[in-house]
Amino acid sequence: MIEVYDPGNGELVGSVPSASREDVENVLATASKAADIARNMPAHLRMSVLRDVAEQLRQRHEEFAEVIAKEGVKTIREARKEVTRCVETLRISAEEARRLGGEIIAFDQMPGSENRFGYYKRLPVGVIVAITPYNDPLNLVAHKIGPAIAAGNAVILKPHSSTPLSAKKLVDLFDATELPTGVLQLITGAGAVIGDQLVSDPRVRMVSFTGGPLVGHRILAQAGLKKIGMELGGNCPCIVMGDADMELAVESTVSGAFWAAGQNCLHVQRIYIQKDHFDDFSERFVTLTQRMKVGDKMDEATDMGPMINDAAALKISEFVADAVALGARILTGGECVGRYYQPTVLDNVSADCRISKEEVFGPVVALYPFGEISAAIDLANDVDYGLQAGVFTRDLATAHRIADGLNCGGVMINDSSDFRIDAMPFGGTRGSGLGKEGVVHAIHEMTELKTYCFNL
Ligand code: NAD
Repeated sequence: MIEVYDPGNGELVGSVPSASREDVENVLATASKAADIARNMPAHLRMSVLRDVAEQLRQRHEEFAEVIAKEGVKTIREARKEVTRCVETLRISAEEARRLGGEIIAFDQMPGSENRFGYYKRLPVGVIVAITPYNDPLNLVAHKIGPAIAAGNAVILKPHSSTPLSAKKLVDLFDATELPTGVLQLITGAGAVIGDQLVSDPRVRMVSFTGGPLVGHRILAQAGLKKIGMELGGNCPCIVMGDADMELAVESTVSGAFWAAGQNCLHVQRIYIQKDHFDDFSERFVTLTQRMKVGDKMDEATDMGPMINDAAALKISEFVADAVALGARILTGGECVGRYYQPTVLDNVSADCRISKEEVFGPVVALYPFGEISAAIDLANDVDYGLQAGVFTRDLATAHRIADGLNCGGVMINDSSDFRIDAMPFGGTRGSGLGKEGVVHAIHEMTELKTYCFNL
C-alpha cells in the first residue's frame, strides 16, 4: 500500500494500493477490451454519466474539498474553488459529448471527382493513459477523464502518489453510474515503477500527461508511436505598464504568485514593471504579500499552505539562495518554517539566475523594472517555457502589441497569468508542452478523423 500523509502536519489521511507489473498488465488488458465498448456507447449515455458525476460532486462539494485540502497543499478555501471548477469541467464534458460530429468534404473541388460525396467523422482513439500531478488533484484529473469519456475512449488514470485520494473518490463516483465496467480504471503506484510499462504498451493509443518536464521527456522517449498530450511546467511573466490600474495589477499578481503556495503551473514568477512606477508597485506588492496568512490549511482564515514535501521546500530555498548570490534583495519572506515556505518577493534579480530561467514551483516572485516595451517582451520571452502571461495596461494598442509579442499559449489582459476558465484552450508553447486541453480541445486531441468517400 501507499500511505498518504497530510504534507502540512504529517498525519496519515489514507492509503491506496501500490500496483505491481501484473496489476498494470491486468488494467491494460481490460482497457483494450473496454475500448470497443466505450466506442459504441451512445452519446446520451456518455452525457448522462458525466452529468450524473457532476451532480454527485456538486452535492458532495465540501467532502471533496476536505480531501483535496488534507492530502495536498491547498487551503480549504482554495480546495473549494477546485471542486467548483471540477463540477464545471464535467458539465462541459457532458455538453461536448453530443458534438463529436464531422464535416462534409467538397470532393468536387478536384476535377474528375465531381461524382464523389463524403465527409469525415471524429472517432475515439481507443485506450488513453492519463497521468496527473499533485497540485490540482481533482480538476486536472477531470480535465483528462471528462473529455476522454465524452469522446468514447477507455481510460487508465494514474494520479500522483502523494495525492491519489481525490482521484479515487472521483473514480468511485463514475463507478456508481451506468458507465460500463473497464471504461475507466484507476491504477495507483509510483510513476518510476509502473510508468514505463504503462506508457510504452502498444495497446495504448494516447498518453495524456500533466506534470514536470523531467518526467514528460522520459515519457516521450518511452511512448513509441502514439498520440501524446504534454501539459508541462512554466515560468510565467506579467508585464505592468505605467498606465495600468495599479490596485488591480497588484491584487491580481499577488494572488497569482501565491495561489496554492506557488505550486501552480500558471504561478506568477516574474513581474516586469515600467520603471517610473516600479517603486510604487513594489511597495504595494510587498504590503499585500505581508498580509498573507500562512499555516493550517483547514483554517478558514489561512491564505497559503505548505510545500508538498521536504525536497520541494529545499529546492525553493536553493533558488532563493542562488538569486541572492547573484545580487538579489529579499524584500519580504525568504524563510522556510518546516514545510511552510514564506511568501517571498525579490528585486534586483539577475537575468541569469535560476528564478529568472527555471520553474520554481513555490511562493517566490521576482520584480524587474523595464524601460522600453520591446525590452520587456524580450525579457518575458527569454525562458524555455511558454505557458501563459499577464499584461496590465489601459491602452488597447499596447495590450495588442505586447500580447502579439509574447511567445506563449495564452495572454491575459488585465489579469495575471493565473487566470483560466475550464472551457478555454489551454496549453503552452516550447518547453511548456504539446497539444491543448480545455474540454473541447482535449476532445480533439483524444479523437482521430476518419474519412468516408462515396463514388456515386
Ligand atoms: P511530476 O512530473 O513529478 O509527476 C507527474 C506525474 O507523473 C505523477 O503522477 C507521477 O507519479 C508520474 N510519473 C513519475 N515518473 C513517471 C514515469 N517514469 N512514467 C510515467 N509517469 C511518471 O510532476 P508534479 O510534481 O506532480 O507536478 C508539478 C509539475 O507539473 C510542474 O512542473 C507543473 O508546472 C506541472 N503542471 C503543469 C500543468 C499544465 O497544465 N501545464 C498543470 C499542473 C502542473
